[in-house]
Amino acid sequence: LSRRVQVREPDNDVARLAVNFNAMLDRLQGGFRDQQQFLDDAAHELRTPLTILRGNLETMDVHDPTDVDQVRSLAVDEVDRMDRLVNDLLLLARSRRPDFLRWEPVDVDDLAAEAFARIRVISEREWRLTDPVGGTVVADRQRLLQAIVQLAANAVKYSAPGDLIELGLQWETGDRDRVLVISLRDTGVGIEEHQLRRIFDRFQQVRESTRGEGLGLGLAIVRAIAVGHGGEVGVRSAFGVGSIFEIRIPAVAGSGSKAQDETSEE
Ligand code: ADP
Repeated sequence: LSRRVQVREPDNDVARLAVNFNAMLDRLQGGFRDQQQFLDDAAHELRTPLTILRGNLETMDVHDPTDVDQVRSLAVDEVDRMDRLVNDLLLLARSRRPDFLRWEPVDVDDLAAEAFARIRVISEREWRLTDPVGGTVVADRQRLLQAIVQLAANAVKYSAPGDLIELGLQWETGDRDRVLVISLRDTGVGIEEHQLRRIFDRFQQVRESTRGEGLGLGLAIVRAIAVGHGGEVGVRSAFGVGSIFEIRIPAVAGSGSKAQDETSEE
């Protein structure tokens, strides 16, 4: 894979072909590197709860009921954590397959209402939903709901009771097509500028609490869902003020093939 065709004068068809060939090799190599990284990260993340489990089982005093109880409860927590991790990893792996999403016409106001009903019960906050906008998008309804719930759960996690969280759905006119913009705005802790680019990557957590409940996969999943729809996800944030996450998907996402290409580049 490391061989490249040398191109001296890129002004004829053969030379142009060679340039394309080299670019293809670059992409392939990048893809392999990415797969390798994915495996390394996954193995590493799975090993941590296993090591904790093992250490506790080894040192557990079987004659002390309190100790047994403690280790049992810790074991259940670690197994739950591994279960969530495996589910999230499977979803990310599946997001690269062509049958990842199930397309159907989705009524936007209906989607907004269902999403809002689901998220406002997550936790006590001042929840708001923007006005109905009408229209239909060709999308995977369940996956879009999943992405919205994930963003809302993050908004709750990184804000305090009494903070405002707003779910917004709006149409924008894109270059070729209408674009649905789904936004989650919170008045929580915000994100520092230099962290903004990294937070959508797998296993990227801003705070040092790597043993907290989060796995650092939530936003990677949101991105996979957005990209699968031929769209994207972005964020604007001010540290200490709050954040706005926006998923943009074209109205007829289901008919595009761009989605597949971009997912594999992830
Ligand atoms: P996790 O929440 O499990 O750490 P995510 O992929 O969901 O992983 O988020 C990655 C990081 O992005 C988080 O660790 C957090 O620092 C930051 N983040 C995500 N959503 C928000 C938000 N609404 N407000 C502030 N920070 C956020």
